[in-house]
Amino acid sequence: MTGKILLVTGGSRGIGAATAKRAAEQGYAVAINYKSDQEAAASIVDSIVKGGGKAVAIKGDMGVESDVARVFEAVDSKLGRLTHLVYNSGITGKNSRVENVSTQTLREVMDINVMGAFWCARAAIPRISKVKGGAGGAIVLISSVAAAMGSAGEYVWYAASKGAIDSMTIGLARELVEDGIRVNAVAPGLIATDIHAPGRLERVSPMVPMKRPGSPDEIAQSVVFLLSDASSYTTGAILRVSGGR
Ligand code: NAP
Repeated sequence: MTGKILLVTGGSRGIGAATAKRAAEQGYAVAINYKSDQEAAASIVDSIVKGGGKAVAIKGDMGVESDVARVFEAVDSKLGRLTHLVYNSGITGKNSRVENVSTQTLREVMDINVMGAFWCARAAIPRISKVKGGAGGAIVLISSVAAAMGSAGEYVWYAASKGAIDSMTIGLARELVEDGIRVNAVAPGLIATDIHAPGRLERVSPMVPMKRPGSPDEIAQSVVFLLSDASSYTTGAILRVSGGR
């Protein structure tokens, strides 16, 4: 083990699960947060532990402020003082044009994709910060190419939530230099996970220059790079990993 302690929010499935596995291979002790799929979270923990790594699953809704506080306290007590954070949990809400979207969908997407990212950053900073006696480290936020494309006709609010993540990445990176915390984002393109409505992967794939969706592991490798000292001069970057999209 490296002494590095990572929390991955939404680590039970998809990109978060692939990131947790890759990070564990690199020697991070990993806290895998999930919202409801306990079985999926337990199976990722199992596969990490069987491979000789250290991992725990921690339930909590990142769209609920009190859950975020509880999840960080659980990381403190189960693994120790945090050094790295991947804010990955995210939802799109049901597809529609903006004129038909419910307030509930808008609030849910903003709470999970944006408020949760701020609540997690707020909790992570004093734990990681060298100024506060921490070891220093890195934060990676999961954005989306949607931030630049706008997701017209599907979920403009989701694209807007990822635009907020991009601004947050740039601002937080500059704010946290003295704290020894690098902050970067990965903006995935079309990735083969459960987040998509049925048929969307097949429909959108031909529009990707590489003509295929990416795998969660292809995102995870970039996330782990941005967490690691291999990217020691990189902060405030938004890395598109999108097959050219
Ligand atoms: P996914 O397969 O649907 O997995 C979502 C993960 O987030 C699950 O582990 C889920 O937990 C967790 N989650 C959902 N709501 C949560 C909440 N309120 N609190 C805590 N955890 C929560 O999604 P994905 O495709 O891997 O997406 C991961 C991130 O990548 C998201 O931020 C998404 O916007 C972004 N992204 C994805 C794509 C893509 O094409 N897939 C493209 C661009 C960006 P449970 O298992 O408990 O439900």
